[in-house]
Amino acid sequence: MRNVKKKPRMKYKTLKGLQDILPPEISIWQHIETKAKDIFKNYGYREIRLPIMESTDVFTRSIGETSDIVEKEMYTFPDKGGRSVTLRPEGTAPFVRAYVEHHLYNDPAPQKFYYAGPMFRYERPQAFRYRQFYQIGAEAMGIDDPKLDAEIISMLSAILSSIGLEGLNFEITSIGCEKCRPAYRSALKIYLGDKLNTFCSDCRRRYDANPLRILDCKVPACIDSRKGSPPVLEYLCSDCKDHFDDLRKNLDLLNVPHSINPNLVRGLDYYTKTAFEVSSENLGSQSAVAAGGRYDGMVEEFGGPATPGIGFAMGMERIIPLIRDSLNITEGPELFICPLGPEASEKALSIAEQLRSNGLWVEINYDNTSLRSQMRKANRIGAKNVVVLGEDELKNREIEIKNMDGGEDIKTLLQGNEILKSLLPKIRK
Ligand SMILES: [Zn+2]
Ligand SMILES: [Zn+2]
Repeated sequence: MRNVKKKPRMKYKTLKGLQDILPPEISIWQHIETKAKDIFKNYGYREIRLPIMESTDVFTRSIGETSDIVEKEMYTFPDKGGRSVTLRPEGTAPFVRAYVEHHLYNDPAPQKFYYAGPMFRYERPQAFRYRQFYQIGAEAMGIDDPKLDAEIISMLSAILSSIGLEGLNFEITSIGCEKCRPAYRSALKIYLGDKLNTFCSDCRRRYDANPLRILDCKVPACIDSRKGSPPVLEYLCSDCKDHFDDLRKNLDLLNVPHSINPNLVRGLDYYTKTAFEVSSENLGSQSAVAAGGRYDGMVEEFGGPATPGIGFAMGMERIIPLIRDSLNITEGPELFICPLGPEASEKALSIAEQLRSNGLWVEINYDNTSLRSQMRKANRIGAKNVVVLGEDELKNREIEIKNMDGGEDIKTLLQGNEILKSLLPKIRK
């Protein structure tokens, strides 16, 4: 053997707050994605794929300069041309950018889309919270009728239950519109103003810029101090109030159990009227699995015609721990071929190829090891069936497909490779 110069040992690791998603865990991800896509199809939502990077101002203006996301959590950096770019911290702002850029509002309303992919926030990593996290989201545009709000919440409910989630709480509220927000804002300022010195420095700064942000602060002292602040629902204008009442009526009609949570706030500036959140009591403090709301002013803000919109996003990392134990994911080839000797080895190679082209997952043993160790390997990789190809089998043209789960073994004659095709349904079983 050639004398290879020893390289220093590699010690690279994923960045803090990032994770590799490996098999068999990936099967849970695929399960969620498949179920979601099936339901999106029934509701007419079509997939869009957008860049994970946008010009920074796509986020700063829409999410809000004073939001936690923009102030603290964005991955923002200059590219080599000196432009400020940001890894998307959420999906709606890039979606609206694309919606306006491609004039999607010209299509008949509602225009309905879904997306799935990674988002990035520079947060302190903790349970179920990653710096690169994955969301599946949906957006419906061009209709301001509360029937659409109820329908999209009902669709979310259908997705989550088809994934296998149970015991979820659907909470809704209205956060008003630009007409009713000024009155609410001043009521809030009066209430908070009296004890402003008990809030964190961020909140004190936000008090003038955007007091609603204070409702969103995660500092425990601030959570405590804002208790008892005026409920937004009491400040809704008649338009917002009617919208909210209709939403509740339609959710009842669609049998979506829900409760009102007047303290529900969205950490993004662009929301109007309907806001909702789905949570699970099994997730501890990071209990939200999905959240969404209406954003009727955003398209106009992005330079498009005034167009209402509503959407939600669900967090993959929050959902996965809730279904991991109940999902019975067994991975392994449907057939494992153990050849004994060089002639059998070649035969195994061509039989495997033949069966794969017929849709069967087949693995073979490559090296010339004992039958015992080949069987052990078949077991370790979870093979459902095993066939031994030795001298006798080749001579007598007879093989036995052994079922590893205690099912029926199949004896059959080997004529070319074709005979196995007729056995496919049996092997699969
Ligand atoms: Zn209003
Ligand atoms: Zn605060």
